[in-house]
Amino acid sequence: MSTVLDEVLAANASYSRSFGNKANLSMPPGRRFAILTCMDARLDPAKFAGLAEGDAHVIRNAGGRASDDAIRSLVISYKLLGTQEWFVIHHTNCGMEFFTDEVMRGLLANSLETAALDASGFRDIGKGPGSTEGDYIDWLTIKDPTKSVTADVL
Ligand SMILES: [Zn+2]
Repeated sequence: MSTVLDEVLAANASYSRSFGNKANLSMPPGRRFAILTCMDARLDPAKFAGLAEGDAHVIRNAGGRASDDAIRSLVISYKLLGTQEWFVIHHTNCGMEFFTDEVMRGLLANSLETAALDASGFRDIGKGPGSTEGDYIDWLTIKDPTKSVTADVL
């Protein structure tokens, strides 16, 4: 039994009961824009961008990076659903600034368990075996937030 699952199901049931006329919103976003931003749990795009249901597409990933899949979603947003503007929104104190590809690859090579974060950075506390499959992934980490957001817009 999952407490988190129960909480999410209860929240969803409450939300769906209060959805009302929003069920009639059209699929294309009414304000015709999309936001690509970070998955950071401290960020709420609806609040920081003043969104309501039906307003905009919000694409989220680690760092708000213009990865292949984010671009796939943005192209669908534009080509099929008519968005006219895209915003790439990164943020200060992003977790993607706290590691490099090499660190991530090393952590995964050691174990597949969740790493710990302390003042010196991420460190592996799990038991092996790990995997070297992470060697084939560009983790799109952030060294300089200004440069990363500029690169993602271009
Ligand atoms: Zn972030």
